[in-house]
Amino acid sequence: MSSAPLVGIPMQTMPAIPGATPDCWVVGQRYVQALVAAGGIPWTIPLLAEDEKALRRIYAQLDGLMLTGGSDVDPTSYGEKRRPACGRSDLPRDRVEIALTRWAIADRKPTFGICRGAQVLVVALGGTLYQDLASERQGAIRHDCHAPEEGFNRDSLVHEILVERGTQLTEILAVDKVSVNSLHHQGIATLAPTLRATAFAPDGLIECVEGTGSAFFVGVQWHPEELAPTGAPHRRLFEAFVAAARTRRA
Ligand code: MN
Repeated sequence: MSSAPLVGIPMQTMPAIPGATPDCWVVGQRYVQALVAAGGIPWTIPLLAEDEKALRRIYAQLDGLMLTGGSDVDPTSYGEKRRPACGRSDLPRDRVEIALTRWAIADRKPTFGICRGAQVLVVALGGTLYQDLASERQGAIRHDCHAPEEGFNRDSLVHEILVERGTQLTEILAVDKVSVNSLHHQGIATLAPTLRATAFAPDGLIECVEGTGSAFFVGVQWHPEELAPTGAPHRRLFEAFVAAARTRRA
């Protein structure tokens, strides 16, 4: 029996007591819980953006890489100037995640990006983002559905996605249409040449990207970690990723 795979999860910078104690690195609990439920062993990765040697040593241990949601990708990470509607970013996190993604692509190591994570996969391979969908994309439906005062929860199903046939995503979800949550105000604008868009929101926005060459290289714009406990298709995303990482380990 092959042993459980080790999956790296880069963290996010968060202020501790501003001005009094150094910043912290944190990770959202739901991502870790969904990964563990699917049989993966989580290894959270510190944002040692200036220490490539240490990052390489961590990376070498991993059977898979999981990039989670979080703050906005900094526009300088894809060669653009910041516009007013762009939110808080985390440059050390961008640097670490982009480096790890490029190494994982080169090594064909299974990689799973969620929300910001999907956007990072695109940026790491040369694509670009909308800094703010509502102000930059004509005809966009609402994708930032998270405010409790508006009646939203993180698992509120707010729009459908249409999945392209003959893709890894259709195989995993086993449906070609599914309702998802939507907790993002940025989005994929131009795709990296080595990626394929495999699911779309009703307004045409890319909601899933897949790469070739790796057993699992998938980025989803929604938050399956919030839906996995009750939604089998979303749970299967984590299971398929862990299965690919397990095969890689063996
Ligand atoms: Mn959406």
